[in-house]
Amino acid sequence: IRLVVAIDGPSGSGKSSAARGVARRLGLAFLDTGAMYRAGAWLALDRGVDLADTEATARLVRAARLDIVTDPDAFAIAIADIDVTAAIREPRISAAVSRVATNLAVREDLIARQRAIIAGAERGIVAEGRDITTVVAPDADVRVLLVADADARVRRRHTELGQRVSAADVTDQVVRRDADDSTVANFTTAADGVTVIDSTALDLAGVIDRILALADA
Ligand code: C5P
Repeated sequence: IRLVVAIDGPSGSGKSSAARGVARRLGLAFLDTGAMYRAGAWLALDRGVDLADTEATARLVRAARLDIVTDPDAFAIAIADIDVTAAIREPRISAAVSRVATNLAVREDLIARQRAIIAGAERGIVAEGRDITTVVAPDADVRVLLVADADARVRRRHTELGQRVSAADVTDQVVRRDADDSTVANFTTAADGVTVIDSTALDLAGVIDRILALADA
């Protein structure tokens, strides 16, 4: 049987690690949809396209080839034949990505590509983002909203990024991005049928176990 697991949550909620872990345990594919918006932002910055020009940005992203390796142990993403797996984690991309994600024409294109990737996953997939449970895959078998207190999320991101990034930068990435992102997707309250998991006091293994229990696995 094929299983689709949808996980949404704000930055630093641990959804990427949790989604990867669940995919590994169940032998499913893994899709980090945030990486697709980040790749779009990377390409726009690389080509010098003004993000305020929503039409030019959408045209650029729409025309770009996007290749994603959905193996949870080897996730990789290339846009316009350039591997950007590492580059999309740079603070300059985190700072710009919400402007690309609030571009409705870009969203329309990336959502269609996400649906195609999900539909093409033979054994099933764990997809994570901001609007997977509500827009991209509302009919997923398991739908989870992963939340955590802002303090815990800032702390996690700081640990992830290491000392090369200042605390102020991390707080900006987490808190400001939440505010910007909340204009496109509601990821603070769960839609009907979506299970909320609060990871503030749970470790990664605890979160993965909760999701596996929902998947009956
Ligand atoms: O998950 P991550 O923090 O890497 O996502 C980067 C950005 O991509 C988010 O801040 C948000 O602007 C956008 N995003 C989105 N919808 C998704 C996933 C990510 O708008 N499904």
